[in-house]
Amino acid sequence: MADPHRVVVIGSGFGGLAAARALDHRSLSVTVIDRTAHHLFQPLLYQVATGILSEGEITPPTREILRRQANTHVVVGEVTDIDLDTQVVSWRNGDLTMETPYDSLIVAAGSTHSYFGSPQFAEHAPGMKSVDDALRIRGAVFGAFETAELLTDPSERMPWLTFVVVGAGPTGVEMAGQLVELSRRSLDRNFRTFDPASARVVLVEAGPQVLSTFAPALSKRTLLDLRRLGVDVRLNSQVVDVDEFGVTVGSTTGSGTERIEARTKVWAAGVRASPLGERLSGATDTPRNRAGQLAVLPDCSLHGHPEVFVVGDMMHLPVPAVAQVAIQSGRFAARQVLARSQGRPTEATFRYRDKGNLATISRFRAVASIGRLHLTGALAWLLWLVVHLIYLVCFKNRLLVLIHWGISFLGRGRQERTAPQAASTPHPIATPVDAPSLFERQAT
Ligand SMILES: Cc1cc2nc3c(=O)[nH]c(=O)nc-3n(C[C@H](O)[C@H](O)[C@H](O)COP(=O)(O)OP(=O)(O)OC[C@H]3O[C@@H](n4cnc5c(N)ncnc54)[C@H](O)[C@@H]3O)c2cc1C
Repeated sequence: MADPHRVVVIGSGFGGLAAARALDHRSLSVTVIDRTAHHLFQPLLYQVATGILSEGEITPPTREILRRQANTHVVVGEVTDIDLDTQVVSWRNGDLTMETPYDSLIVAAGSTHSYFGSPQFAEHAPGMKSVDDALRIRGAVFGAFETAELLTDPSERMPWLTFVVVGAGPTGVEMAGQLVELSRRSLDRNFRTFDPASARVVLVEAGPQVLSTFAPALSKRTLLDLRRLGVDVRLNSQVVDVDEFGVTVGSTTGSGTERIEARTKVWAAGVRASPLGERLSGATDTPRNRAGQLAVLPDCSLHGHPEVFVVGDMMHLPVPAVAQVAIQSGRFAARQVLARSQGRPTEATFRYRDKGNLATISRFRAVASIGRLHLTGALAWLLWLVVHLIYLVCFKNRLLVLIHWGISFLGRGRQERTAPQAASTPHPIATPVDAPSLFERQAT
């Protein structure tokens, strides 16, 4: 029997996992390399960050998902280099450095946060791209309420009860909506020295509208819903500085700046393609756009390298950087690899089938656009629920998520509310108030 065609897939996110699953063929030997051992369902990260879901519910182990696929080997490692001439991927895990040769390569390393040239903002305004990010934000949110309970002076307390979310795309809108629900419903009667409903959630957006990729009517409706809910939405406002104690916001249409004192900040404003794109770009003189995405050929392959495919958030084609694009392009690349390995003709162009756009605002409120059909309110929210359940990987995870949604949305509970330990553990985002000294101060 001929040697199997060796395929390396970098990334086990939406694109990489879809590709790996579609490569289930005994004529292929597939290696999936990811720096994590799990597949991450990023659209529900904000629910981990606000205590609705636990991290395990949105991170099924990749080797468990692919356990029946005998031709596929899953390894955990950080890819550090791709040699296009010798066709070798270099990666490492701790002290181990490895090299894996390939006949075909699918690069699906996704994207990371973008602070638009101000990387120092990251220290105090974490983005939400990984489980660690979401847990860090969750600790900060619940930790802020705990600190607020210890403070008696409203001017000291309010910055702990002010949450700033930067960027009003779907993630920012969902995060802001959930923070309001958390403070107004879930934490009701949990505290004795203050009312959690007094928390302030500020959503800062540089553009003139929220959800700018949605139809104007849906974007207007979302703005209305957010404001009715109690979110302080600042449009045409750009964050010009972030520090431990708050943010400074400037107007994009006028002059002047405003200071918002807020201990907890979440960055949901921008993404930038994986740095691996930069390496491929340099090696092939392939241009990248402002978001660092590689200008691939219409069949998602790299210029001059028909054996290398770049899919999902890393590729620059006239398609949005969303999960559906990653899934469809991953499957498409896998089909090309299989066809090439069998000497069959390949397809010339990747065609994206747009299945629609969804975003939730709060429980029972969402917006959806499917072709010309626009839905709002409870109907859109139900659709959002069903679609996310369908796309969650693993039956067990779907079941657990459904139960926890029932607890949070029909009731008012949140399962995952661990806050950082007192005093000896620093607050994950900002410096904690020294609790004993607060009580001493009250006593004097
Ligand atoms: C908070 C959030 C909410 C979102 N909500 C939605 C939504 O509601 N609907 C929607 O359609 N889209 C949403 N998206 C976008 C969607 O998640 C992405 O478009 C999609 O994940 C892109 O898939 P991908 O395979 O290109 O990358 P990813 O899914 O990000 O996967 C990349 C994988 O590569 C791995 N990796 C990266 N670099 C390396 C390396 N050097 N070595 C080894 N492994 C590496 C990563 O660990 C990761 O597993 C959201 C994104 C975020 C962050």
